[in-house]
Amino acid sequence: MRPSVLNPLFASATGIKGIGEKLVKLLGKLLRGSETLEPRVIDLLFHLPSGVVDRRKRPRIAELPQEGIVTIEVMVGRHIPPPRNNSRVPYRVHVSDSTGMLHLVFFRAHAEYLLNKLPPRETRFISGSIDWYGGEPQITHPHHILTAEEFSHMPLIEPVYPLTAGLSAKILSRAIRTAFERLPELPEWQDPAWLANNAWPDFHTAFKSQHLPQITEGSALDSPARLRLAYDELMANQLAISLVRSHMKRFLGHSQMGDGKLKAKVKAALPYKLTSSQIAADAEIMADMASPHRMLRLLQGDVGSGKTVVALLALVNVVECGAQGVFMVPTEILARQHFASLRPLFEAAGIRYALLTGREKGKQRQEMLDRLADGHIDLLIGTHALFQEGVEFKRLGLAVIDEQHRFGVHQRLALQAKAGGVTDLLVMTATPIPRTLALTAYGDMDVSRLMEKPAGRLPVDTRVLPLDRLEEVVTGLGRSINGGQRAYWVCPLVEESEIIDLTAVEERFKQLDRVFPGRVGLVHGKLKGSAKDAVMAAFKSGALDILVSTTVIEVGVDVPEASIMVVENAERFGLAQLHQLRGRVGRGTVKSSCLLLYQAPLGETAKARLTIMRETEDGFRIAEEDLRLRGAGEMLGTLQAGLPLFRIADLSVHGDLLAAARDDAALVLSRDHELKTPRGQALRILLYLFERDAAVKLLSAG
Ligand code: ADP
Ligand code: MG
Repeated sequence: MRPSVLNPLFASATGIKGIGEKLVKLLGKLLRGSETLEPRVIDLLFHLPSGVVDRRKRPRIAELPQEGIVTIEVMVGRHIPPPRNNSRVPYRVHVSDSTGMLHLVFFRAHAEYLLNKLPPRETRFISGSIDWYGGEPQITHPHHILTAEEFSHMPLIEPVYPLTAGLSAKILSRAIRTAFERLPELPEWQDPAWLANNAWPDFHTAFKSQHLPQITEGSALDSPARLRLAYDELMANQLAISLVRSHMKRFLGHSQMGDGKLKAKVKAALPYKLTSSQIAADAEIMADMASPHRMLRLLQGDVGSGKTVVALLALVNVVECGAQGVFMVPTEILARQHFASLRPLFEAAGIRYALLTGREKGKQRQEMLDRLADGHIDLLIGTHALFQEGVEFKRLGLAVIDEQHRFGVHQRLALQAKAGGVTDLLVMTATPIPRTLALTAYGDMDVSRLMEKPAGRLPVDTRVLPLDRLEEVVTGLGRSINGGQRAYWVCPLVEESEIIDLTAVEERFKQLDRVFPGRVGLVHGKLKGSAKDAVMAAFKSGALDILVSTTVIEVGVDVPEASIMVVENAERFGLAQLHQLRGRVGRGTVKSSCLLLYQAPLGETAKARLTIMRETEDGFRIAEEDLRLRGAGEMLGTLQAGLPLFRIADLSVHGDLLAAARDDAALVLSRDHELKTPRGQALRILLYLFERDAAVKLLSAG
């Protein structure tokens, strides 16, 4: 249960004055990533300013600067409405102090409103941006027009918040200030010595400096207040991950160490030798599985580094132990591909295997599920969705989750929980993630890395071309396929939504099919399963030379003979995606090429992305650049639709704090593993505050 002291923060923001029905939707979208999620007080509190407006300059009129924001005290004079027949002339109001006078200027003004706001012969405080017109100072559309009473409450340093269309800055600021007033006194959860060393303020003061700033530098990402708040969030993250980990590890797994006989058969059936990275990863995995603790291991390896076979050996090991294994992948194409490529190896070793995706239905599916529950199937390959539907195993020894990066961290933790208490877990990801991010997302796991690719791979020749050279590209493609090469041609979806717009791929397919009749296939997500299989199979066998597709081929697809990758509208793809797509080629012995076609003109970020792609094939470098260009949240998948993993911390700035938070969390838990000391209790509040509730529940579940 959430500590009651936090209840005011988790109350709906609709209780705040000025937040009506229309605003609720806008705020839901802005603060929680969805119109349907009701904004809460805490969401307002966590909405930190992106900067401040400094209104402290308070000159007399005679001393007005050439430009900038000023706040002046004036006597209101004459109103000068525009001539009736010319609405382009602005409405002007004379104001003055003892040193001079200036005009307030309003375009398309309502006279009534202005007479009310600026009654002649009264004193008003005006704040706004100064400009000069014909040698005379003026303020056009002042930001504030206030009475002395109102002015006495006005902060002279004003936070500026990120907005969304339709949301007024004034209303949002007011709502956030109210939210801040509801922040209760909370016990300190950070180590006082650490705070003192860094000269960081307490939690309450930190928020105050954001929403009621006294200095202009307070909203900078590296200001002490921001660092403290970021550290709080990172600490909550690391503490939660450590709790999940220790909880998982507390379940004694089985020691699973087979006799190696099946493994030897599989290895003998492989058409190649394992790389030394693969051998090392296999050894780490075997050591984990042999230990009585649960294995929680991440196998990280760039596209094409050969992760599948490492997973296979681990799966075969559990079969030797008389248990079952499951291999989960994100797409049906990938499930079928693994199934097809692993099949000969399973058969060589006499392993009973099955494939289960959304497509297996009815009686056949039920039979398969029964055989699985009876233990007559040793290894199951399927899509992630299946696992969530509660497929029953007789004795599941190992779950492998492939291409984890396609899913959010939270989904992975959920899968992990579903996998039950004793199953060993191997998670694989191709997106090389920067070290800092690995900690936030996989801090609960041990990591094996495949650092090298199988020998004999040639670098991919990457070229970036404008789309208007399409004809040339098609001509070149013709030469290549006549020379026996095979090519992918990827088009982006116009809308990445439910109702996908397939016109682009369909058009391109038609056009290429006219040029190369009978040699082009089309595959996309909306295609029926069997049709998809047929096209993939034809491309794999060489019956088709060109495969036009959407990004359904992005992950994992392995056709070693394909040596050309054309990506149309490459500017619309993210770096990780481009890297994945390029990873589809360069797998065989032929020199491969990747053509990134862009629609001019290129934006700055898109240009930077394409340049990096041309410069390097190093997945780690690409990942670092991706983090820099995109921010952390997007890279890791999202918490809820549209919301980043962190709300306050920005890993491109606060990444260094992460290692400190990890060590801190580990130290705390080693001394107080149930969070029972006063600091432990305070840290529980921190976990709830950042909505790591699930981790706290693990504590009480014991
Ligand atoms: P990924 O790590 O991207 O999942 P895969 O497991 O799909 O990579 O392997 C990519 C390709 O490399 C496959 O065609 C696979 O058969 C091949 N492969 C894997 N290991 C080796 C190896 N040691 N030597 C040669 N080829 C290998
Ligand atoms: Mg793979």
